[in-house]
Amino acid sequence: MGTKKMPPKKKNPMRQCAGCGERREKKELIRIIRTPEGEVQVDFTGKKNGRGAYICNSVDCLKLAQKKKSLERSLKITIPESIYQELAKEMGSKNEDG
Ligand SMILES: [Zn+2]
Repeated sequence: MGTKKMPPKKKNPMRQCAGCGERREKKELIRIIRTPEGEVQVDFTGKKNGRGAYICNSVDCLKLAQKKKSLERSLKITIPESIYQELAKEMGSKNEDG
């Protein structure tokens, strides 16, 4: 015995941003999912069920993704305007200049 292979060390999972296309750690990205019911949701916990796409926590990336429709393409669903607004609100909330 003792010939069991050790599982490979887990690396931080990397995901590609739908906006700028850079790969980042999953935890640095915001997840957008398509639920099994065919709804689009912003998944701030990263734990919801569904097909997911990722984007940097950046309004610039959001605008790029919207322009390129890359979220739509990767989720294969139309993203309602309200989702973009929700994301923009979330991304912009930390650097408001009131
Ligand atoms: Zn990005």
